[in-house]
Amino acid sequence: MELPPQARSLWRDPNRLRLIALLPFFWFLFTMCLSGPTRSASEEAGLHLPSSECLPGASRVTVNFSWTPVEGAIVQWLDLTVHDNGFVPGTFMYAGALPGNSHGWAWEGIEVGKLHLWRVNAQTEGGWITSETGAFVPCGAPALLEPSVSCEGPHAKVTLRWAPSSGPDGGVADQWLDLSVVEDGFGSALTRSEGPLDGEQWSFDLGHVLSNVEYHYRINTPTVWGWTPSPVGALQADCDFTAVLPCGDVLAPLDKQHRLAADCEPPDLVQLPASISYGGPQRLRAEAADALMRMLREASAAGLTIYARSTYRSYQEQDFTFNYFVDQLGRARAERISARPGHSEHQLGTAADLTAASAGFQLSEAFGSTAEGRWLADNAFRFGFVVSYPRGKEHVTGYAFEPWHLRYIGEAAAFDVVATGLTLHEYLLLRWYQ
Ligand SMILES: [Zn+2]
Repeated sequence: MELPPQARSLWRDPNRLRLIALLPFFWFLFTMCLSGPTRSASEEAGLHLPSSECLPGASRVTVNFSWTPVEGAIVQWLDLTVHDNGFVPGTFMYAGALPGNSHGWAWEGIEVGKLHLWRVNAQTEGGWITSETGAFVPCGAPALLEPSVSCEGPHAKVTLRWAPSSGPDGGVADQWLDLSVVEDGFGSALTRSEGPLDGEQWSFDLGHVLSNVEYHYRINTPTVWGWTPSPVGALQADCDFTAVLPCGDVLAPLDKQHRLAADCEPPDLVQLPASISYGGPQRLRAEAADALMRMLREASAAGLTIYARSTYRSYQEQDFTFNYFVDQLGRARAERISARPGHSEHQLGTAADLTAASAGFQLSEAFGSTAEGRWLADNAFRFGFVVSYPRGKEHVTGYAFEPWHLRYIGEAAAFDVVATGLTLHEYLLLRWYQ
């Protein structure tokens, strides 16, 4: 790593004899590593958290170090480094010989907001003693605290909170907030910049459309070396202000704007026969289950064996499923292939994901090209089922092509969908609001 200029100049100091003088000390360290610590160094030279003064515009930063002196110390040296691996020879600065129990060190090479390590070495009659290593961040960046979000519609309200950095008076005014929907978009992709802020929190209205967007934010504090940003925080309101449909309606136009309540559970779920179930027990509402069994019997008579692989899913199960896809594929992709909890047709108890051995029992686009998938596409409406998310209609339905996902709406309605050429989504919306 790049050395602070001060460290380089110290290291080039003609007084290199000190290096030689330190050789016994390194030897001491080495033997201590072999034999284990003989004395508790922290008892001997306790370190206190240093305080740093970071006045905006000042050219130097002073850090005040203090420690409990070692009894009988002849001479003390203070070591300081920003090196991650500790006090690697050639990468740390030092000051000595220090007589007392404190040292104010002013220097220009300090790296604001970076972790610094320090220790005190004391020469005693019995040899060199090294304290524990202390750590501090000069003029530390603000620490972000947990934001709070309220979804008491019609808008989501967010309050961001932080602990201001330790400035000259314990707090820093003139802080600025950066907000972006792009993870590292604090440059050109900045969504919002707010300031100057002199408190420890800031509230704003996320509105209604953007309540489900993930935001990234940071607090910038002015320091000697320019703006010191906090770590980046992320927040998402995750409020669902979409319309709630009555529970149990077979023709409910469930989509990204319409949902079921979390406690909506269909009243008449029945378990499907094991012979047509794949991957554990499957449940549908009684009427949909009857229709599915008739449909699969007829397919079977045509030499096609079709299984139900995923059927009724509770709100909680859908919550788990959706979040699984978000973790695996990222939010954008998850939104295309999975529904948010409350928005899934599987919660109706009338939707079934179907597959066959010819598709490796997978729920994949390939199922649409199998004999079983083609038969369903042609015949399902006769039993009251419709493919909810057809090919090439993602801009209408909001979901990618799912040849395996069929929803029961009754024979008359299914016939209408086929006759009108509308997607199920369009048909149900028209019918619901007409
Ligand atoms: Zn499905």
